[in-house]
Amino acid sequence: ALQKKTTTKIPRAQYGGRNAVTMLPGGGIGPELMKYVRDVFHFAGVPIDFEVIDIDPSTEGNDDLDYAITSIKRNGVAIKGNIETKSEELGAVSRNVALRNELDLYVNVLHCKSYPGIATRHPNIDVIIVRQNTEGEYAMLEHESVPGVVESMKVVTDENAERVARFAFEYAKNNGRKKVTTIHKANIMKLSDGLFLEVSKRVAKDYPNLEHNNMIIDNCCMQLVSNPYQFDVMNMTNLYGTIVSNVLCGLSGGAGLYSGRNYGDHYAIFEPGTRNTGTAIAGKNIANPIAMLNSAVDMLVHLGHNDHAQVISEAIYQTISEDNLRTPDIGGTASSTDVIENIMKVLSKKRVHWQHG
Ligand code: ATP
Repeated sequence: ALQKKTTTKIPRAQYGGRNAVTMLPGGGIGPELMKYVRDVFHFAGVPIDFEVIDIDPSTEGNDDLDYAITSIKRNGVAIKGNIETKSEELGAVSRNVALRNELDLYVNVLHCKSYPGIATRHPNIDVIIVRQNTEGEYAMLEHESVPGVVESMKVVTDENAERVARFAFEYAKNNGRKKVTTIHKANIMKLSDGLFLEVSKRVAKDYPNLEHNNMIIDNCCMQLVSNPYQFDVMNMTNLYGTIVSNVLCGLSGGAGLYSGRNYGDHYAIFEPGTRNTGTAIAGKNIANPIAMLNSAVDMLVHLGHNDHAQVISEAIYQTISEDNLRTPDIGGTASSTDVIENIMKVLSKKRVHWQHG
C-alpha cells in the first residue's frame, strides 16, 4: 500500500547529541561554499560533524560514488554541491542523478521567497515547487534504434506521481498554503503526463480544503514571468521542475539564493536549488554563499536543530536585507567572504542574547 506520510524525519547517526552528516562538496564553487558552511557552523556551535567525501569526476568507475552512497545510508542526511560528470565519457551517467535514484529521493522541494532589498522583476514572490525527482524525462533510457534515430523514454509511474502529489498537498496543508497547481503537457503527452495529471486529481480529493488547478507547462512559463502571484504550491514532473525552478529563481534573485531539498522515505539531501557548478566563478571570492548556507539551515531543521537554524537564518536575512551586504549576482559589490564575515558578526551579537535568555 502507498504510504501517506510525506517524509520521514528521523535524525540519524547521533552520538552524544551530535549528528554526523555526509558532505559532498562537488566541483566548481562547491568546495568554497562548503568551507563557509563549516566556518559558520563552527562559529555558531552547531553540533554537527561532517564526513567529507570528494568525488573526482575524472576517475573511471564509481568507487567514490558508492562510498558516498554508503555514507549517506549510514548518516541519513547529506549536504552537497554539484558533482560534475566527465562529458567525453560516452554514456556517462550523471552522478547527481545516480545518487538521487539510488537513495530513492523521489521529491525535490524549492521554496522561492524574495529577500527585500534585492532588485528583481517582481517583488515579494513566495512560491513552492514540488518536483518529481527520480523518473520522468530523467529516466536516462535513450538508445539509437537505427542510425540517425534516437529514442528517449519518459517514465511516469502511478506510484511516484502519487508520492509527489501527496507530498505537495501535505506540504500545502501543513504550511498554511491554499492552492496546489499541477503543471503538465497532457494535451500532447496524453499517456505519461496524462497519468501524472490524473493522479494529482485523485490525490486532490483527499484535500477538500485546498484548491487544486492545473496548467500546461508552456502557459505556466508565460504566467510565471507575467504574474507569478497566482502560484502557491506547484506540483510537476522532473524536467518541468528544473525549468520552472530556474525561471522562478531567475525572477527572484538568481542561482545564489535558494536551497533545494531532496527527500525520500529514508534519506534527505540538501543542496543549492538550481544545482549549478559555477565553474567560471570558482576561486574568485564572488560566489554567493547564501544558497548553500540556506541548504545548511534546511538541513538543521530536518535534524531538529531548530534554534541553530533560526539564528543562522536570521543572520542571513539581516546581512542581505538590512545590512545590504550582497555579492555581485544579486546586485551588490561584496565578496563571498565579506558576506560570511557579516553573518558571523550578526551571529556573535545574537549569541549574547541567545546564551542569556
Ligand atoms: P557549469 O557546469 O558549466 O558550471 P551549470 O549548468 O552548472 O554550468 P553554471 O554556469 O554553473 O551552470 O551556473 C549558471 C549561472 O549561475 C552562471 O552564470 C553562474 O555564474 C551563476 N551562479 C551559479 N551559482 C552561483 C552562486 N552561488 N553565486 C553566484 N552566481 C552563481
